Amino acid sequence: MPSKASTVRDLHLCPFCGGVADIYRDPGQPGYEPFYVVYCTRCEARGPEKEKREDAIAGWNRRSTRERG
Ligand SMILES: [Zn+2]
Repeated sequence: MPSKASTVRDLHLCPFCGGVADIYRDPGQPGYEPFYVVYCTRCEARGPEKEKREDAIAGWNRRSTRERG
């Protein structure tokens, strides 16, 4: 099923500022695959870029626990 643009409940808050995170799908460019990336709506921190939506979310959530770049 195609996913609609809506708030993603699974996303943790931003590990840097505690802001609300959202997910963005980059359509890609010639030579590049589309990817998903989670970002903070407040400070614009970005999670890992992944081809799969769930991978991008998982990467963001893992980072938000304690690990920092
Ligand atoms: Zn933030």
